[in-house]
Amino acid sequence: MSALLKAGHYIDGQWHSGGPTYAVRNPATGEVVVEVPRGGAEETNAAIAAAERALPAWRGLLAKERAARLRRWAELMLASQDELARLLSREQGKPLAEAKGEVAYAASFLEWFAEEAKRVYGDVIPSHKADARIVVTKQPIGVVAAITPWNFPLAMVTRKVGPALAAGCTLILKPSEETPLSAFALAVLAEQAGIPAGVFNIVSGDAPAIGGALQASGVVRKLSFTGSTRTGKLLMRQAADTLKKVSLELGGNAPFIVFADADLDAAVRGAMASKFRNTGQTCVCVNRFYVQDEVYEAFTAKLAEAVRALRVGNALEGDTEQGPLINEAALAKVEQHVGDALEKGARLLCGGQRHALGGTFYEPTVLAEANAGMLIAGEETFGPVAACFRFRDEAEALRLANDTPYGLSAYFYSRDIGRVWRMAEGLEAGMVGINEGIISTEVAPFGGIKESGLGREGSKYGLDDYLEIKYLLLGGL
Ligand code: ADP
Repeated sequence: MSALLKAGHYIDGQWHSGGPTYAVRNPATGEVVVEVPRGGAEETNAAIAAAERALPAWRGLLAKERAARLRRWAELMLASQDELARLLSREQGKPLAEAKGEVAYAASFLEWFAEEAKRVYGDVIPSHKADARIVVTKQPIGVVAAITPWNFPLAMVTRKVGPALAAGCTLILKPSEETPLSAFALAVLAEQAGIPAGVFNIVSGDAPAIGGALQASGVVRKLSFTGSTRTGKLLMRQAADTLKKVSLELGGNAPFIVFADADLDAAVRGAMASKFRNTGQTCVCVNRFYVQDEVYEAFTAKLAEAVRALRVGNALEGDTEQGPLINEAALAKVEQHVGDALEKGARLLCGGQRHALGGTFYEPTVLAEANAGMLIAGEETFGPVAACFRFRDEAEALRLANDTPYGLSAYFYSRDIGRVWRMAEGLEAGMVGINEGIISTEVAPFGGIKESGLGREGSKYGLDDYLEIKYLLLGGL
């Protein structure tokens, strides 16, 4: 058994098992990877107590000392890239090449925030009184809770743990019950990197029970969540009782607009990368393609040709490009969206049914003549389905793109500089890809507006969510 394959809660530097368990399965084969304990309130309260005990010493280290450990942690991740990627693919189903990419992406957040840890600057403000001085400092918010999803089992964790630990906070992580193994592996490496006991804790299992204990605790001063808008709203309501600071990275309904003046081949490449990454299971995946009338047939034909060529299979086999969906519920949603669209007049260009491989595999699909009355227009499909809508002019494209309560990412392809600025400013989204389909990087602020969330992760802004501003008025000079 690999040293990175652990199955237990990680609390105060110790592994805990016992109690009821459940199976983590490989979604490509149904194989049981390992049985893991189903934790609840008791384990969570122990983890909160450990994080509280560990806080003074961790907060008291020099930023440079915290940074050295975070950097070492990133290096250890990269040294284990292949092993981590295989584990990630086994529990999550994404093709191995994508899993390796995720390991590097995940490590980049630890490296980035190791650097940023040293740049938590304050301020000196010109005083309002002759005998007083005003100084502003920033301090770690304290004990943090992080709740993460299954689509990026490593990167969504480090994107929260990196800034939290860099800022001097300690943390309790509740990974997705579908994919806890990557998080456990991270804890093994954290220990090797010299992250002290109690600074990074993991409790996995019963989501409402763990979430409930985290939320009830007045010790936990902040919650950072990535997941569905439905759960995010529930967590925000719960957090109100202890007035925790909340960061929420929620669902999207990303538009991808192709104007007649676009480089169509580049647009198809961007569309493939954005729509079909992780088998369509990322919150920044395109959900709605808006294509201008003049290029509608040409773009959809090129897109369908590229989609037909995708290799679907088990993540760990050969040159797979598309894995299975995470579970039956995900498959059912994709089937419902495609069935609804076809009933309401969509034209099927390719795919459109469960894949011959069985299980939760679905054929990569392109639908033409999608319209606003279809389910797929209003809700994130989270699967390998490209729905193509038509539009006539720029004003209509902007109106349709913004006609959603979500505002995470948006994409458009155009070579007209005036249009590029107008669209970039008019799109209601936290992130806009202009002639680009992949926007995620640790150096830029990731986050949404409207019902897609609160706060930003990554970049120089990513630390702010884990810091409190303190104002000092020094009088009587
Ligand atoms: P999805 O539907 O895509 O799985 P969720 O928002 O349900 O998205 O899940 C994201 C994360 O939120 C997971 O770690 C999940 O266990 C957790 N979660 C779901 N419901 C709750 C809850 N009531 N309290 C705390 N965490 C929850």
